[in-house]
Amino acid sequence: MLLVSAPILGVPEKAALSKVIDSGWLTMGEQVRAFEEAFAHMHGAEDCVAVNSCTAALHLILHALGIGPGDEVLVPSMTFVATANAVLYVGATPVFVDIESADVPLMSIVEAEARCTARTKAVILVHFAGYLANREEWQKFARARGLQIIEDAAHAPGLKEVGTFGAAAAFSFYGNKNMTTAEGGAVIARDPKLLETIRQARGHGMTTGTHQRLNSRTPQYDVTMLGFNYRMDEMRAAIGLVQLQNLQEWNEIRRILVMLYRRLIAKHCPAVTVPFHEPRTSAYHIMPVLLPRYADRQDVIDELRRQGIQTTIHYPPVHQMTLYRELFPGTYLPRTEDFAQRELTVPLHPQITAPVVESVAAALATAVHSCAQAGTAA
Ligand SMILES: *Cc1c(COP(=O)(O)O)cnc(C)c1O
Repeated sequence: MLLVSAPILGVPEKAALSKVIDSGWLTMGEQVRAFEEAFAHMHGAEDCVAVNSCTAALHLILHALGIGPGDEVLVPSMTFVATANAVLYVGATPVFVDIESADVPLMSIVEAEARCTARTKAVILVHFAGYLANREEWQKFARARGLQIIEDAAHAPGLKEVGTFGAAAAFSFYGNKNMTTAEGGAVIARDPKLLETIRQARGHGMTTGTHQRLNSRTPQYDVTMLGFNYRMDEMRAAIGLVQLQNLQEWNEIRRILVMLYRRLIAKHCPAVTVPFHEPRTSAYHIMPVLLPRYADRQDVIDELRRQGIQTTIHYPPVHQMTLYRELFPGTYLPRTEDFAQRELTVPLHPQITAPVVESVAAALATAVHSCAQAGTAA
């Protein structure tokens, strides 16, 4: 089965893991610190905080910004549920905002404007599929209303612009992301004080960590704030350091594969459209396509599966999940809903070759054409 995404792991990751195991120190220590420095450097940031997931990163950012009960946070619904869940964790209210269009399935600034109230404190931008939101427009929007910008950058690691939009950015190193530590995440924040608050909240709000106390005269520590256990460990950081060395090259391979997909889909099945048709900076995390309205998506999924090609859907809208329908009944986002009904994600990862892209595009064309014929026959 050709998978939608697959991690690339090999001898260097195994060697890095062995070294950590032989060292006898498994919890947050030198590897984590080295990973933080390397990850920050790649993004042109002074520093960053490694955590155990992007969800934890988002929670820590909202918590450190003091967002809580009574506050509203603008979020897209065309995202993974974690984006909105993090807002609920701090007791604030996620306010779902529609996408711009089927071609630009990023949060609409016009819709965001319409959903702003006196209680709106922040906006979480998701760089959907790796394509960056418009920084200048969002900064203007946020400045005019005194809002914090938080980036959910789970899809966009490795881009210099990420982490420069506003207060902070959250990254994911889950197994299906552009680089992985199995589970893992990171926070980049521009304000060093905010980053230090996040660093402390990551480890129970303690003033020092276990590793720091090892190298210190005093075994004492204090707890000066409510914190969490969102630490990364040495094994994950060691894998992350190896993965990070490949990230730029992997993103470049993704870019080339996406260009090829676009060309082949336009040629062989123009009824299928590929979002973001205008060039835009991207980390090319996934390859979303939009099926024509006459196509039965399940039939297309089945046909591709018969040919050994996995597909997925990004995303079932968060506002339509049972939990969120119960919490916020009556939310209606027409463009998000239409996009979600027609979207299909085809395989994209750096181990895919050009002939594989050709076979996926051909299989997609066959599946969609047979839908068209079935439609004509009916
Ligand atoms: C994967 C993902 C997350 C969650 O990441 P974890 O590391 O699994 O917590 C959050 N937001 C988006 C957009 C994602 O794709």
